[in-house]
Amino acid sequence: TPLQTDNRIYIAGHRGMVGSAIHRALEFAGERNVLTTTSKDLDLRNAVAVDDFFAAHRPTQIYLAAAKVGGIQANNAYPAEFIHDNLSIQDNVIHAAWRHGVERLLFLGSSCIYPRDAEQPMREEALLTGPLEPTNEPYAIAKIAGIKLCESYNRQYGTDFRSVMPTNLYGPGDNLDLETSHVLPALIRKCHEAKLTGAESVPVWGSGRPMREFLHVDDMAAACVHVMNLNRATWQAHTDPRCSHLNVGTGEDLSIGDLARLVADVVGFEGRLAFAPDRPDGTPRKLLDVSRLEGLGWQASIGLREGIEQTYRWYLENRA
Ligand code: GDP
Repeated sequence: TPLQTDNRIYIAGHRGMVGSAIHRALEFAGERNVLTTTSKDLDLRNAVAVDDFFAAHRPTQIYLAAAKVGGIQANNAYPAEFIHDNLSIQDNVIHAAWRHGVERLLFLGSSCIYPRDAEQPMREEALLTGPLEPTNEPYAIAKIAGIKLCESYNRQYGTDFRSVMPTNLYGPGDNLDLETSHVLPALIRKCHEAKLTGAESVPVWGSGRPMREFLHVDDMAAACVHVMNLNRATWQAHTDPRCSHLNVGTGEDLSIGDLARLVADVVGFEGRLAFAPDRPDGTPRKLLDVSRLEGLGWQASIGLREGIEQTYRWYLENRA
């Protein structure tokens, strides 16, 4: 249900992995009025520039997918940027969305908002019930602030700002830099390079025991469009004004060791996995409870093996 005939949809962060998947999904759906910007034309950390952009282009709907993101090592190395850039981007965009009367906004967060020792699978209500995982606490605090910004404007000004919290995402467009990437693209690259050079083993950080859930970015994009297009009464009936975010995941997880074996199998690397206990494990497990979103009629559809195969093909075409 589009909101109005002269809908102008702004995707903040359309060059990123998730923003570009949302862009593809909207184009596939025949949406013609999509606005995008690059960080060169518009620095979302600059409040005045963001406000000017909203005044000039008057978007009616916003997918807020712009963020500073990275894997466990990047979060550890650049904590200042992870909190500052994310707080500024979301504060500027959400505030401008209210000031310029945007009809609906979707804020994208992350499952790392939940306490490190939250009961598994993690329900939306687990938010702010305990201490966070230290390796990505600055990023998580920014994302929690984003949810609370949306809820605060909704409560005070009656805006329609929604939030979705995806589990670990992967797919085409992912970062392949081994020091700053997430585990799945890192394993694809390491296994592929080891296969080419005939290396005996591939290094896998940590113990291999942490459990993670992986969602393909095209599933994430489909979930975003689904949540954006829910009518307001339905969305309100399934959320709480003070706990309004929706988990997005598959509902299934596996150990990093099993993930590495699966990637090695897809890539065709037949050597050994060398676990590196000097690298951090991070949170022991973060499986999302996805029943709220399922109750709203959405479910993931891309299986992990199929998703890795497709991402490996993308890697082969784009690694240069
Ligand atoms: P996290 O879910 O926030 O911890 O994000 P990551 O995707 O960076 O890491 C997930 C898990 O995979 C952690 O336990 C990492 O130690 C482990 N891991 C194993 N090998 C790698 C690797 O090459 N890169 C990354 N980023 N993580 C790895």
